[in-house]
Amino acid sequence: MISVSEAIQHIENYCIPSIIIEKPVQKALNYVLAEDVVSPINMPPFKQSSMDGYAFIHSKKESYKLVGEIQAGNSKDTTLEEGEAVRIFTGARVPNDADTVVMQEHVKIENDYLLIEKMPKKSTNVRPLGEQIKVGEIALEKGTELNEAAIGFLVGLGILKVKIYKQPKVSILITGNELKEVGEELKAGEVYDSNSITLKLALQQIGIKKVRITKIKDTFKATKKAIKKQLEKSDVVLISGGISVGDYDFVKKSLEENQAKEVFYKVNQKPGKPLWFGHKEDTVVFALPGNPASSLSCFYVYVLPFLKAKLGHVNYHLPRLKAIAKEDIINIHGKTLFLKGKVDNGIAKPLKGQASSMLKSFAISNSLLLIPENKETIKKGEEITYIKLR
Ligand code: AMP
Ligand code: MG
Repeated sequence: MISVSEAIQHIENYCIPSIIIEKPVQKALNYVLAEDVVSPINMPPFKQSSMDGYAFIHSKKESYKLVGEIQAGNSKDTTLEEGEAVRIFTGARVPNDADTVVMQEHVKIENDYLLIEKMPKKSTNVRPLGEQIKVGEIALEKGTELNEAAIGFLVGLGILKVKIYKQPKVSILITGNELKEVGEELKAGEVYDSNSITLKLALQQIGIKKVRITKIKDTFKATKKAIKKQLEKSDVVLISGGISVGDYDFVKKSLEENQAKEVFYKVNQKPGKPLWFGHKEDTVVFALPGNPASSLSCFYVYVLPFLKAKLGHVNYHLPRLKAIAKEDIINIHGKTLFLKGKVDNGIAKPLKGQASSMLKSFAISNSLLLIPENKETIKKGEEITYIKLR
């Protein structure tokens, strides 16, 4: 059995970004840029008014002859003489020589003359050509996660396509004779399958939308066949349950029979001891314990960082932060504990219901409190490390 840090270290060797592909920028939400994006234009692409008002060549004079009007979108190339002004609107192209726009609230109009009551400083309300970004400059750097603002920014520069890291094809294999679909009637001995939806949504949260889910009974034949198919069709296989040592746990044997290579099996942790990690050629497999809290805990600590690295994220682990323990925490297990906890204002409290079968504490937690394997007690007031979940 290996330690948590050894397990993380093993997985680290597989944390390599996926191949680079091109995608329409509008469809690249949550993807990570695989190369710098260079601006093809100046932004703004012309000298632009940032106010509704009057454009003029700045001087000490208070009175200017009005010679016309320029609306936003008007492409006319206009030039002013000294002593002249034009009516102008927000976003409109400022005449060539004009350098200042006075806001309309600060002027009076008399007989086609503009009288400036409050003289702005030179250059006020005029956005210079390329003020935000100039043609050829880097708009966004490699490694930037594309959120809605980033995509809007790139579209505003006229960019159509971006290079991003391809999403891995992920499949989930759910094992368990006892599992029923929500909506079906539960008979004695049965429980609802919750891992498939939890894992699917956890994948969605990091931007992986297309997931193939297969559900099988606990037979060697079905397990071996399903794993064979998933190894062929996916980049990443997540298996739920059947990886323990029970007589009906066929996952490990089925992985072996499909020539998947084990990197490690069993981690000195609670929950989630029987975690299996390995690969067949380039397809990576995480066999997660079936207990709902174990499976989700392993997802956050091991699967999520691996997948985020595949997607090109630079900081792919969930943040590990420090807080102060609200109460004594005892670790009698000699294992690393991941306790569902609540951290508020730097104070960390483990929640009730830490059993690996229990999801309620997970549902209301915002963190996993990390108790090292060699630490028997953490005293109230002592510093504690936690993994920030939300
Ligand atoms: P296993 O890892 O297959 O031995 O399962 C351990 C425990 O987790 C058993 O009590 C299962 O009923 C439960 N379990 C396994 N898979 C799921 C699932 N998909 N949803 C909810 N509970 C599960
Ligand atoms: Mg099972």
